[in-house]
Amino acid sequence: AKPDPIIVADKVSRTFGGINAVEVEHLEVQRGAITALIGPNGAGKTTLFNLLTGFDRADTGTWSFEDRSVSGKSAAYMASLGMVRTFQLTKALSRMTVIDNMRLGATGQKGENVFTSLLPWLWRRQEEELTVRADELLARFKLDTKRQDFAGSLSGGQRKLLEMARALMTRPTMVMLDEPMAGVNPALTQSLLGHIQGLRDEGMTVLFVEHDMHMVRHISDWVVVMSEGRIVAEGPPTTIMQDQAVVDAYLGAH
Ligand code: ATP
Repeated sequence: AKPDPIIVADKVSRTFGGINAVEVEHLEVQRGAITALIGPNGAGKTTLFNLLTGFDRADTGTWSFEDRSVSGKSAAYMASLGMVRTFQLTKALSRMTVIDNMRLGATGQKGENVFTSLLPWLWRRQEEELTVRADELLARFKLDTKRQDFAGSLSGGQRKLLEMARALMTRPTMVMLDEPMAGVNPALTQSLLGHIQGLRDEGMTVLFVEHDMHMVRHISDWVVVMSEGRIVAEGPPTTIMQDQAVVDAYLGAH
């Protein structure tokens, strides 16, 4: 397929107390593809996610989303343009019901801080529409029977499904998944992979951070490898998994 990037980023950097957490020269993410972002612990994957989605501020760099310059824009703005990320279920979210997590997903925000200020407003204004959308998604992810349960009572795999479902509340064109397979029972692996491929089949762009190489090999169209803040390799999964430098750099840290 000819290149059609949805994200183009240049010279994006972020330091934390002298550590170059992210130092990316150039990155392009293909529209409509599933791209995996891999690399050892501390490579900068999560930080890069946070920068692109507006949850953290870059020190330098420019990037665009769908040909629109979005460097330094807020998470709320990015969500309004159609770019969202998932969050691992936090303590605060675990104490909320599944359906309330879904409603909160409609804000495109992480959760805790907007809860008190925004949620009652959303309920009054858009309760019906939000609830319909939430219930459709819960049915699709087979979480409809868990609707009124506390999110914290879900199994590892169900939590991952909920994280994905709540991200879809804003009808995004691009989703960034934060370790979608972490803590998932092998029995749910296939179903989760199927759901992620389903997003792509609907035309969504997917970028995910993952340590599970089985998943990376099986569903990504493209793999980007980070190490010490930089992109050290990228290519199709079969090529990348055979690249000795990549295997050494990546597996060396595990
Ligand atoms: P993992 O696979 O373990 O999640 P990662 O590739 O996502 O790792 P990051 O979490 O982005 O890596 O971290 C990159 C570097 O930045 C690390 O050295 C980390 O300690 C540092 N770092 C990240 N966030 C912060 C922060 N808020 N304050 C200080 N240092 C940070």
